Amino acid sequence: MGAPLMKWPKLKCPFCGGILANREMKPGVPLVCPSCSQKLQFSHRQLRLSTFAAVGLSVGLGLLLGLRGLWFIASTVIFWFPMLLIWEFVFVRFVPPKFEAYEDSRGSKSETSLFRR
Ligand SMILES: [Zn+2]
Repeated sequence: MGAPLMKWPKLKCPFCGGILANREMKPGVPLVCPSCSQKLQFSHRQLRLSTFAAVGLSVGLGLLLGLRGLWFIASTVIFWFPMLLIWEFVFVRFVPPKFEAYEDSRGSKSETSLFRR
């Protein structure tokens, strides 16, 4: 098949159900649905969950390696980001990424959108 290893599963637009091109996913950059032109972003709640999971995994790894004190803190900081990438990659296989309408974080209404949900 020759499929690349780091291939994301198919992503669907929550508004029209259209298949999204998922090669250009970058944080802070909206994904535009090719079917309905809706600007989309990853669900903030899901991103936060992933971040907590990555920190938890890093802490777990430090405990597993028997690290103490400064080494423990250092390992958590060092492993956090790779753990996040690994976690995200595994996580999307079981739970499809959720999308929500894109909100421009630089907009003047960012304060109200923060507390809206
Ligand atoms: Zn759409």
